[in-house]
Amino acid sequence: MNQSEIEKIIAQFPFKEYQWITPDDIVIAQWVRLKCLYGCGETGRPACPPNLPSIESCRELIREYKTILMFHFQKEVKYGEYSKKWAKDLTRNMLDLEKKIFLSGYYKTFLLNTSSCNLCKECKAENKTSCKHLDLLRPCPEAVGIDVFGTVRKLNYPIEVLREDSSVMNRYAFILVE
Ligand code: SF4
Repeated sequence: MNQSEIEKIIAQFPFKEYQWITPDDIVIAQWVRLKCLYGCGETGRPACPPNLPSIESCRELIREYKTILMFHFQKEVKYGEYSKKWAKDLTRNMLDLEKKIFLSGYYKTFLLNTSSCNLCKECKAENKTSCKHLDLLRPCPEAVGIDVFGTVRKLNYPIEVLREDSSVMNRYAFILVE
C-alpha cells in the first residue's frame, strides 16, 4: 500500500486533520448497537440498524482491513442549530474522496461517514429499496458498532457530549482502505 499516493489524493480536499490507524485502534462494542436501536430518531433508516449485520460480523468486517483513515472535523455550534448544509457538503466531499481512492486501485475502499445519511432534504426512505441514492448510501461508524468516543479518546483526539453550553462539535469519519 502506498500511503503517500493516497495522501496526495487527500491533499486535493479541504481535510487537514487525519490519521492512519489499524483495526487495533478501533473500539467496537455491543452497547453502541443498543443506542442505535433505542433513543435515536434515525433507527430503521436505510443505513442504520437494524439494517446492518450483527456487531460480531461488523467486528470481523473491520478486521478484514489493515489500513484505515480516520478524519477529524471540528465545527463551532450553537445548541439546536446543527448545520445540515455543512454536513451535506462534508458527505459529498467524503464520497468524492472515497471514489478517488477506489479509482486509484484500492478496490476495498469504503466510507463510514460522520453521521447517518443526510443527502436528501428530508429522508422518506423506510428501507433500502425506497432510498433515492442507493449508490451514495454509507453507514456511520456507530452503525457498524464503533464506539467513536472510546476510539478517538484512545488516539488523543477531542470529543465531548454536546450540551446546551457547548460551542464546538467534533465529528469523525473513517475510510476503510485496504
Ligand atoms: S440518500 Fe436520501 S433517501 Fe437515501 S437514506 Fe439518504 S437521505 Fe434517505
